[in-house]
Amino acid sequence: MAVDYYAVLDVPRDASPDQIKKAYRRLARELHPDVNPGEEERFKEVTKAYEVLSDPQKRELHDLGADPFSTGGGFGSGFGFSDIMDAFFGGGGASRGPRPRQRRGQDALIRVEVDLAEATFGTTKDLQVETAATCPTCSGQGTAPGTSPKVCDICRGQGQVQQVTRSFLGQVMTARPCAACQGFGTVIPQPCVECGGDGRVRTRRTLKVKIPPGVDGGTRIQLAGEGEAGPGGGPAGDLFVEIVERRHPLFQRRGDDLHCTVAVPMTAAALGTTIELETLDGQRTVEVRAGTQSGQSVTLDGLGVQHLRGAGRGQLVVHIEVETPTRLDDDQVELLRQLAALRGEDGPTTNGQVSADQGLFARLRDAFQQR
Ligand SMILES: [Zn+2]
Ligand SMILES: [Zn+2]
Repeated sequence: MAVDYYAVLDVPRDASPDQIKKAYRRLARELHPDVNPGEEERFKEVTKAYEVLSDPQKRELHDLGADPFSTGGGFGSGFGFSDIMDAFFGGGGASRGPRPRQRRGQDALIRVEVDLAEATFGTTKDLQVETAATCPTCSGQGTAPGTSPKVCDICRGQGQVQQVTRSFLGQVMTARPCAACQGFGTVIPQPCVECGGDGRVRTRRTLKVKIPPGVDGGTRIQLAGEGEAGPGGGPAGDLFVEIVERRHPLFQRRGDDLHCTVAVPMTAAALGTTIELETLDGQRTVEVRAGTQSGQSVTLDGLGVQHLRGAGRGQLVVHIEVETPTRLDDDQVELLRQLAALRGEDGPTTNGQVSADQGLFARLRDAFQQR
C-alpha cells in the first residue's frame, strides 16, 4: 500500500540528501505542469516523494514502512482529510479559496543529557539543532530570483476545480483541489534552485539553552519559534528540549529528594560516629547517633534538588547500613566473646530474644499452640 518514494525519485535507498535533491530537481524540471501539463499526477507524486525523503524524520517513518502523510504532519502537496471530504461531498467547497503557501512550521524535539548537579543547580548548554530554516536565496518565496508565482491556468487562481459526478443521488457538483497548483492557486514557473520551491532549507545551528534548576528526566523546555521554519516563509514552530537525566553514582533521586546508602561498621553504629559525605554542595558531616540500627536514616534538609516550581530544595536522606564484621582475628573474636558474656548474649538465641514484641505471626502461632 505504501508508496516506495525511492523508486519514485529513482534513487537508491541509501541516497544522500544531495542525491535526493538533485534527482528531484531533474524530475521537477521535466514534469512541471507548465512544461508538461500531461504529467501533473507524476509531478505531484515526485514532489511528495521529495518532501518525505528530504526530511530526516519523515524519511525514517517511510523507511519503517509508515506513510508520513497519514500522521497529519504532512506539508506541501499532501492533501488532508478535509480535502478528501470536500472531494466526496462537495463540502461547501465553493467558499474555500486557494490555500496559502505560507504556513506555520512544525514543532521540533531535541533531547539533552544533564547530570544530577546540573539538574539541581541549572546550567546553560550549547545544543546542535538541525531544523528547516527559511531559504536565504528566495526568502521563503520558493521562486528563483527575479521571478514570481503566476496564477494557475487550470483553476484560474481558485485552487480547486469543479467537477460534475454521477452518483446514486444524481448529478453532484464536487470541488477538488487543483492538481496543477496543488491547491495554491498559483504556480511557481521557476522554482528557487536552493530549496526546490519549498522556501526552506535544512540547517544546523548551535543554540544556547538555559536549563533551569529543578528539571527532571522528561521535563520539556519550550523555545518559541526555534522549531521548523514554515513553508513559503511561514513562521517557525517551537522547539522542545527534553531533559534526560544521567544516573549519579551515589545519589538516587525520588522527586526532589536524594537518597544514598552509607555502610557503617557495627562498632561505630553502636558507639556513635560521624560520616564525611561528599554532597552536591560539597563535604558535609553526617552525625550517626550511638545505637543506630541498620535501615535507619539521617535526613539533611535543603541538600536535595531545587523545586522546579516554588522556592526551596528537597532533602538528602542518608540510609545507614550496619556492617557486621566478617574476618575476625583471634584477639577480636576473644573481645567479642567477652562483650557477649558481659551482655548475657553468649547463650543460644531463642525465639523470645529475636522477637521481644509480640508480632502478628507470634500471636497467630501462640493461638494455634493453645488449641
Ligand atoms: Zn529558496
Ligand atoms: Zn490550479
